[in-house]
Amino acid sequence: MLMCANWAWRLWRKASLSRIEQEAIGFTAVFFTIKLAYYFFWGDLKQNWVEIESTFWVMAFVMILFYIVLDARRGLVFSLALGGVTLSLGLLRLGGEVALGQHREEFLAFVRSEMRLFAMAGLLYALATVKDQLADAHRQVLQMHTLARTDPLTGLPNRLALSEYLEGEAHRAHGLYVVLLDLDHFKQINDRYGHAVGDEVLREVGRRLRSSLRKGDMLGRWGGEEFMIVMRGDNQHDVLAAVERLREDIAFWPFDTVGAVSASFGVAEGHIGDSIHNLLERADKALYQAKHLGRNRVELSPA
Ligand code: GH3
Ligand code: MG
Ligand code: MG
Repeated sequence: MLMCANWAWRLWRKASLSRIEQEAIGFTAVFFTIKLAYYFFWGDLKQNWVEIESTFWVMAFVMILFYIVLDARRGLVFSLALGGVTLSLGLLRLGGEVALGQHREEFLAFVRSEMRLFAMAGLLYALATVKDQLADAHRQVLQMHTLARTDPLTGLPNRLALSEYLEGEAHRAHGLYVVLLDLDHFKQINDRYGHAVGDEVLREVGRRLRSSLRKGDMLGRWGGEEFMIVMRGDNQHDVLAAVERLREDIAFWPFDTVGAVSASFGVAEGHIGDSIHNLLERADKALYQAKHLGRNRVELSPA
């Protein structure tokens, strides 16, 4: 009762569930081992045998729990330990008497129960190994999924992630804004300071944009020195003010080594029935317009 109250309290305090699970199973295993020892060594063995049999079934159930909660290797270690302890108890109690020709029936039942326990330990180990391999494969697939959608240089979502995100938003294009930005004269930075410095500028631009945006805004690297932001907004005025702040975040503060860097922005607003393809095309045209009008500026595409 005290243990249960303690677990409930810790669960309430948001303690780790797996730790509590492990403790609960360990406690159950110890409790039923003591019960088995009690029925083996106290009272009449024949009368106690029904309880002993049922305790062996509980042990088998505890073994299954070991494999569910722990990984295959630790499940096997604990199962063999449980089998070993029950085997020692039984042999201690029955070994000598069987040699004297007593309790033969009980001894045979005991051997059957032990064989069942050890066979289960082996079978469950094989199943748990497959379970662990599947969990590993699932983890790897998730890792690869993330890796394939992450730009290695900036750590931001890449073009694939942005495209998938846009496809997901396509059914509610109304109120969706696509912002394309392209660094100005970036080739000169590479030429003058080298590719490594250019890379660091790209990372810093990514950091500045991320720290200025809201959590729900999607930011990614569209390719080369182009970034994309997908955001929702209630009105054009607020969105353009936010994009203007992003432009200032880049242009206002000098960068290490290279000094002033600026970017041009093209913004397109989605409308009911708009396709993502159209939206991207309009953002691209607006960006081209921003470059054409002298760079370091924000242009909104006409609807
Ligand atoms: P504009 O203002 O017209 O955009 O001029 P720009 O020089 O930025 O445009 P341009 O497209 O001629 O050059 C883009 C440069 O970006 C060329 C390419 O070498 C560089 N670049 C693309 N990807 C990377 C990268 O991952 N790292 C670095 N360091 N440079 C890159
Ligand atoms: Mg470019
Ligand atoms: Mg450029």
